[in-house]
Amino acid sequence: MLHQYTQEQEILRESIVEFVRDEVLPAVPQMEEGNEFPLALMRRCGDLGLGGLLFPEQYGGTDMGLSTFVMALEELARGSQTLALTLDASLTLCFLPILHAGTEEQKAKYLPGAVTMESIGAMAVGEATGTMNFAAHSGTAVRDGDEWVINATKVMTTNSQAADVYLVFAHVDGNPAPTAFLVEKDNPGLSFGELERKLGWHGSNTGTTIYENCRVSDADRLGEIHGGFEAVLVPIFHSCVGIGAMCNGNAAAALDQALEYTKVRNIGGKNLIEYQTVAQDIARAAMEIEVSRALVEKTAKLIDEGGVPLPGSALAVLTSACKVYPPELGSRVCDLAIQLHGGVGYLTNDIHRRWRDNRACLIGEGPTALHMDWISAAVASGGYRL
Ligand SMILES: Cc1cc2nc3c(=O)[nH]c(=O)nc-3n(C[C@H](O)[C@H](O)[C@H](O)COP(=O)(O)OP(=O)(O)OC[C@H]3O[C@@H](n4cnc5c(N)ncnc54)[C@H](O)[C@@H]3O)c2cc1C
Repeated sequence: MLHQYTQEQEILRESIVEFVRDEVLPAVPQMEEGNEFPLALMRRCGDLGLGGLLFPEQYGGTDMGLSTFVMALEELARGSQTLALTLDASLTLCFLPILHAGTEEQKAKYLPGAVTMESIGAMAVGEATGTMNFAAHSGTAVRDGDEWVINATKVMTTNSQAADVYLVFAHVDGNPAPTAFLVEKDNPGLSFGELERKLGWHGSNTGTTIYENCRVSDADRLGEIHGGFEAVLVPIFHSCVGIGAMCNGNAAAALDQALEYTKVRNIGGKNLIEYQTVAQDIARAAMEIEVSRALVEKTAKLIDEGGVPLPGSALAVLTSACKVYPPELGSRVCDLAIQLHGGVGYLTNDIHRRWRDNRACLIGEGPTALHMDWISAAVASGGYRL
């Protein structure tokens, strides 16, 4: 890989590489077999400064921007996409909306803990009737004096049970545009369903969060009434770029593993890598990962330079592309890695977990088809010049 990092970024990257080698990879079996949430590793990510990359100094962060954040996610995902995803969901789906849309009190209350990663966040939007179909959600919030009473059942909440704070969407006065609220874990109106058993991302908590006559104060409302979507829009785009980065890291690690195998697996008197079709498959995958990285890095840089991926804009096309191309490439590369390992690939968890983890990235935060709709709408309207 060829990157043009600053010295500061490179020092950070090297510290993550060491962390992945010494602490993350040894912990993968606990996540895989025990489905154990990586709480200790999350705290270590805080020690390494990864919690503060997107947040200003006044809250304890370093404000190094999305470019540095996606670099960190890519390196983490080389060890464990579960860990990268857990961190990404906490920071971009819960705490970044607080930075974007929160009051000064909310920022002062929540962001220092987000930065040290003593506090973990979650976003609870999806309902059984469909995640992105906000208008069909039945969760409500009713005003009662200075309080709101929330009743909602949210499915597939990442970091369920582990998170200390939940950003939840609910409808106010029957308005189809949702309103966002912050609910703390110890709120007596919040309870949890069983954690889901999943194809991949073992160790990441996914579960239903239930808000039953859950009372919060008006000071816990995030953004305007009916303004939930606006509160999370830009942070969700950050997360889409992050998903691209973690797919690239996961795919690169899978390819690396396959490459090493082909150097020693001897078939018919020569090592696999000496077969031209094998060597070319690996070369093609390496080339495509580099293209995918260029997409993610360019998008992150444009956002760092102040670009806002508003729906229909050229930057929104790039952002959605980060949510489409790297996950699709990840599927192909991880599948190739299984194939090149032959039967061993099918039998060995540490090879196929890469494919299983990547699979979620084609679905979460809007499935591929939805992002393709957004890309095609921007292309058709001229918002993006081909
Ligand atoms: C592991 C995991 C973690 C998650 N974490 C969270 C979380 O933290 N918070 C949260 O709120 N949600 C979370 N989700 C929910 C996730 O965001 C949704 O699953 C995802 O957005 C897809 O929505 P859906 O499941 O309602 O599928 P649907 O919207 O019902 O879509 C089903 C399928 O229909 C097709 N489709 C959808 N839209 C279109 C279209 N426009 N054109 C053509 N075909 C289309 C696609 O093939 C799609 O996969 C998580 C999901 C998973 C699997």
